[in-house]
Amino acid sequence: MNKSENSLHVLVVDDEQGIREGAERILSRMGFTVSTASRGAAGLEIIYAEPVHIVFLDLKMPGIGGMEVLARIKEFNEKIMVIVVTGFATLETAIEAMKKGAYDFIPKPFEPDSLRMVVRRAQERMELSLEAERLEKERNRTLLDLDNEKSRTRTIIESLPNGVVVTNTEGVVVLMNPAFLLYLNLDVTLKPGKKIGEYVDDEGFCERVMALSQGDCPSGNDSSSYELALPDNKFMMAEGRCILGEENECLGAVLILADITAMKALDQLKSDFVAKVSHELRSPLSTIHEQLVMVEKKPENDEYLLSRAREKTNGLISLIGDLLDLSRIEEGHAGEEAQPVLVDELLESIVDFIKAQAESRKQSLKLELPVEKNLPPVFADPMALESIFGNLIANAIKYTQDGGSIKVRLELLDNQLQVAVIDNGFGMEARQIDKLFTKFFRIKTEKTRYITGTGLGLSIVKSLIDKLNGSISVTSQPDQGSTFTVRLPIMEKSH
Ligand code: ADP
Repeated sequence: MNKSENSLHVLVVDDEQGIREGAERILSRMGFTVSTASRGAAGLEIIYAEPVHIVFLDLKMPGIGGMEVLARIKEFNEKIMVIVVTGFATLETAIEAMKKGAYDFIPKPFEPDSLRMVVRRAQERMELSLEAERLEKERNRTLLDLDNEKSRTRTIIESLPNGVVVTNTEGVVVLMNPAFLLYLNLDVTLKPGKKIGEYVDDEGFCERVMALSQGDCPSGNDSSSYELALPDNKFMMAEGRCILGEENECLGAVLILADITAMKALDQLKSDFVAKVSHELRSPLSTIHEQLVMVEKKPENDEYLLSRAREKTNGLISLIGDLLDLSRIEEGHAGEEAQPVLVDELLESIVDFIKAQAESRKQSLKLELPVEKNLPPVFADPMALESIFGNLIANAIKYTQDGGSIKVRLELLDNQLQVAVIDNGFGMEARQIDKLFTKFFRIKTEKTRYITGTGLGLSIVKSLIDKLNGSISVTSQPDQGSTFTVRLPIMEKSH
């Protein structure tokens, strides 16, 4: 094979050596890569093995006949251009070969010029067809890229967790993603194509979309936001913008919907909490105010009124203390001093400390420790544990009649320590147990009405136990007593 810079590869198949050599010389000089074969079979082998563009094929050869070789070439690759080489006498055969897919023919014997002319024609044709092929490939690739880009964008929009809707200048929906349909409780199979009002049953929202679609946009980077209230207490925040064209003309609007239901609920909780706290602060403060006014007016009563006022301020101080504790715990600042704590020793010291309170009410307060010694420690902030058990034991004393009995029982379970605070006091009804850990919840009965408290103690207890990955449960019967059972994991780091 004669390699050359011309990218086209020409094969000469002829049994006459002179023709092969002559053709090879001329074609090589023209810059083609040239291969030669003296038989059809050898020619075919070259064709099967490497890319060949143009073939000069002698129709009259020993071995496989030229017509047969032509058929096989065309069968293998119909783009290969075959120029049949034939004597004058076999013109008909040449015509027949053309009918069978040969591109051209050249009669034998031929002048170098005729060979050049024929091969140039074939070359031009081949180059044109190669160029067309290349262009076609390129076009397909760009189309494919475009298509990929389009489907990528679409997939991203479809997968966005936020709802997306796009309208044209008439307010007709041209695109909406599944999250949009889901948020608005719409059938997920709905297709775009109708006015926004057909999909969304909220006049304010639709008016906003229409305005945006027609170019009524907030300036600069601002977007227009709108809150949508949906059935089932669901709330969405819609943020929208105009879509601007190259000349700043409005082409429509794009809106994004975010589910703000949880945020709204939190907001509501916050307002409820502020209202509750304000209420809890206002009534004792007004009483103190009244009492101070009276002290001013009647100085002879001052002792009694001042002591009542002091009691109230004490209550307020403990309320604020509890509130601060709670916010500290809820912000995650409690329990930072975690260390191994021996709960039996801790309970002994709490009971020792609080015993005086029980004695003043003639109640018995007993601590029951398990027989096994060397109980495993709990990994916790000792202050948090003191707060948990101190609160529960103080409550048992507060909500049990004089002369009642309170037991604090520590037990070792599989992987946990269990502390039960058991009293035989006022108890409570089942429906009240559910609300026990709600902030400010207090049970008001004849027996409890004079007992002071903030209604925050058990909320604090619950939050602290949650932080320790523990649990608390309550059983109670009115006038029979209550049992608060706390379980804490042993030596497991909690934060
Ligand atoms: P506080 O004691 O300041 O009112 P808590 O959150 O500690 O607040 O308790 C909430 C309410 O639960 C109390 O007001 C009381 O009605 C009830 N309670 C708590 N512990 C007991 C108990 N051991 N027996 C009966 N009722 C209790």
